Amino acid sequence: MLRRCVFLVAAAALSAGPVGAVAGADAPRNIVMFGWDGAQREHVQQCLGRGELPTLAKLIGEGKMVDIDIEGTTDTKAGWSQILTGYYPEVTGVYSNGRYQPIPVGLSIFERLEKHFGADKFVTVAVIGKKGHVGEINPPRKVRVNAGAAGRKQAAQAKKKAAQAKKKAAQPGFRNPRGKIIEEDGVKYRLIPGSPYVNMYKALDVWEFGLMQDEKVGSRAIELLDKYKDKPFFFFVHFAEVDHDGHKNGENSEAYNDALISNDVWTGKVIEKLKSLGLYDKTLIYVTADHGFNEDGKGHSFAPYVFLGTNDTKVNRNGRRQDVPATILARFGLDLSKLEPRLDGIPLDKPDNRPPAKIAPRQKAAKQAAKKKAPARGGGQRANRKKKQQ
Ligand SMILES: [Zn+2]
Repeated sequence: MLRRCVFLVAAAALSAGPVGAVAGADAPRNIVMFGWDGAQREHVQQCLGRGELPTLAKLIGEGKMVDIDIEGTTDTKAGWSQILTGYYPEVTGVYSNGRYQPIPVGLSIFERLEKHFGADKFVTVAVIGKKGHVGEINPPRKVRVNAGAAGRKQAAQAKKKAAQAKKKAAQPGFRNPRGKIIEEDGVKYRLIPGSPYVNMYKALDVWEFGLMQDEKVGSRAIELLDKYKDKPFFFFVHFAEVDHDGHKNGENSEAYNDALISNDVWTGKVIEKLKSLGLYDKTLIYVTADHGFNEDGKGHSFAPYVFLGTNDTKVNRNGRRQDVPATILARFGLDLSKLEPRLDGIPLDKPDNRPPAKIAPRQKAAKQAAKKKAPARGGGQRANRKKKQQ
């Protein structure tokens, strides 16, 4: 009891400290998690080295940057499902962009926080750049496949529609889900499962997706901070431009580099808003990614190396994707030992006695990565190429 009193006095002294210091580190009022979708660790480090990411650099200066290594599939659905829950795919049922299901009710950090604090006392917001693989809330559906003339006609129409939609929507790197084929009364159907987020989104005060541009995502987050500033909150602010530019132009392109700078600029504008509202010293910020990018590639089939940048002074070790939500829940005061099923993530200030992360690239991806690496041995070429883009 006495120790607790001493702690409270110390916390009060801390929170009276200068604005800008991360006084809320022990018990933050708010947390904002920024998603830099598809941000490769090495490229981010190179940008930091060139002084191109001042927001992230400042955060790291106040707190820490650690390595996050990814186990399992390095894609969007697998990534954000793990980061928004703290579980392996065996628990969520979300293994990849093509193999997934709705995440069972109650497992997301949004639902856990709403339950812990009380839905009317706490605000959860997700503002998401992508329109597919993260954010979308489609129920399960059954699509008829190729059964006789009628089926062929339907399939042709669907294909035409999909092509038009693709042209219009153009989310780079997006592929329609494959789905399992079933047969009913001699007719074949493709079973498309419901989106991973179809349960969790109901718990939030605001769930918006498909905003595409960083500017739209950032501006919307700023508006919503104004609206919800009076209650404690958790915001998930997801930027899509890095991933999109990577798919269009490649990881070593100028566009990919510019998109990282754009993520940093908009992260900075949201942080500026927190400061102008007088909330920054009560808010922990985490910046992380769902997956990296294949070195010099236009995809992320083998991209297990990302990062976490934060003003959280307690973070003190490298970790894995599922450790990020564990850290967030622990910071908000949830007792992780009471969560069912047991969380797979461990907070990033707690000892990690797990065996090394199992990074197991798909055979094909591993071969491609090895091929790519071979001619660039010595590292000179790659470094030069990036230098030219400055
Ligand atoms: Zn992607």
